[in-house]
Amino acid sequence: MTAALPRLEDFRRVVFFTGAGLSAASGIPTYRGRGGIWGDYNYEEYACQRAFERDPEKVWDFHDRRRAAVAACEPNAGHRVIAEAQRRQPGTVVVTQNIDGLHQRSGASGVIELHGSLWRVRCGGCRTVREDRSVPIAPRRCACGEFLRPDIVWFEDALDPAVVRRAETALGGCDLFVSVGTSGVVYPAAELPRIAVESGATTVEVNLEDTPATHLYDHRPRGPASEVLEAMFQGPAGAQADIPSRARVASSSRS
Ligand SMILES: [Zn+2]
Repeated sequence: MTAALPRLEDFRRVVFFTGAGLSAASGIPTYRGRGGIWGDYNYEEYACQRAFERDPEKVWDFHDRRRAAVAACEPNAGHRVIAEAQRRQPGTVVVTQNIDGLHQRSGASGVIELHGSLWRVRCGGCRTVREDRSVPIAPRRCACGEFLRPDIVWFEDALDPAVVRRAETALGGCDLFVSVGTSGVVYPAAELPRIAVESGATTVEVNLEDTPATHLYDHRPRGPASEVLEAMFQGPAGAQADIPSRARVASSSRS
């Protein structure tokens, strides 16, 4: 089945906007939605600033388990297609809601991480922010004596305004916007695609199913992210992308 999906080669400034659905094929546990671990763990005990202030060791025990689980996962074909797209077209920007670092491990650079990174720590005392890939993390305290905390956006945390501005700038200047595996319901995932729409970009929503934001998109291929991305961007040069039939394509035009 052939669908008239946009080809990377036809665009100069591409933004990939990625969410949990992209990393699902790598085995990264999802934190929201059906089967999400918040069904088993109460975030108020493990993933908010109040919990950290109450019991930082307990919060770190939990995050050590998350780091160990993520460290055992590998980037999948979807991550690799995006990194390859960035190599082919240096104007390509990756904006992600994922904290797993799999974009970087697949070779992507300059990744805008809206929700921070599981592989960075920061200190509320001396304001140090640095990469740390130790599992389990050691030491848990900064040189200044304060506990380090994961540099991720926990429940009840605000997003870093500087990071959001970088994302907004990328979206406002893109000519192709590709959303991959995001439900589009959590701020800012519900708002950011509108910027690309309003700036006149061609928009593609790659997802297993429709989302509350689906109506915003010009093209809506349905299927596993890695399969759809491979079909869109690694098809024969100069040919229209062939989408595997099991990636059910419902590509339609915004009217
Ligand atoms: Zn410190």
